Amino acid sequence: MYFLNDVEKKYLLSHLHRVTRKVGVTDELRGWSWFEEPLKPYYDITLPMYIICGKYCSTSRDVYLRYVQKEPGEPSPRMVFGQTIHSLVASTFNSFLDTTNPPLESEDPRLQQVSEFVEAEAKAAILKQKSQQPYATERDILHTSLPFLVEHRISGELLGLSGLLSIDALDYLHGILFDLKVGKKKDFYRLYCTGYALVFESIYEVPVDVGCTVYIDFRNDRLFISKDLFHISDNLRSWWVEERDHKMELVSTSEDPGKPRTCPESCSYYNTCR
Ligand code: SF4
Repeated sequence: MYFLNDVEKKYLLSHLHRVTRKVGVTDELRGWSWFEEPLKPYYDITLPMYIICGKYCSTSRDVYLRYVQKEPGEPSPRMVFGQTIHSLVASTFNSFLDTTNPPLESEDPRLQQVSEFVEAEAKAAILKQKSQQPYATERDILHTSLPFLVEHRISGELLGLSGLLSIDALDYLHGILFDLKVGKKKDFYRLYCTGYALVFESIYEVPVDVGCTVYIDFRNDRLFISKDLFHISDNLRSWWVEERDHKMELVSTSEDPGKPRTCPESCSYYNTCR
């Protein structure tokens, strides 16, 4: 799930690393500059990451309903399925890192394919590392063949985020922050990795330059995985700050931003607005 294939590795080494070294990131847009503009939050309000990065509602009325009207909304089947995949991937990975048993088999063949895929990748990585490092300890083998912090809990309060956040995965050997999405590609999904990178930088004061959105989809009931690898650039960082400030302002002024012309039926507020 979080291992790059040969083409992705080439893209990372021959293109992305060059771009990150050449173009870089402005210091004031690094998370460690959280105490000054533009990263310093204007408002005494905290919001979760999914609210800041989510752009499912083009007028952000979902933010108004959730944080001004205090309406919880109804999770759609797509959202519930996405959460199940997230916990399945995390628990399967962590069973290798904790040397415990993997989760029980699922009756849903789609979930079964996901856990089999994660298990197969992890086993192959461990065996490959063992075959190349005859004198390494078991712990060293594990932490270099699966170099991932999975579901890493971190506080985003310095940047105005609420609660403890959970980063899907961080590859600490190659400096890549991963975010898992179930379904089709959307441009704003890059905001999630960007937000988590800013939070990581605000706490640990180490740069995170590369993000990767991992897309899980099913075509003819067959698991399909693709990746969007990108530089967490100044533009993305500024876009994240704009979204955060816009949504905080919306909550602070308590004004109803109105409805767009059309709404996706999968929106958790569809029955409230339509
Ligand atoms: S139903 Fe429409 S207006 Fe209401 S929150 Fe969803 S997308 Fe926005």
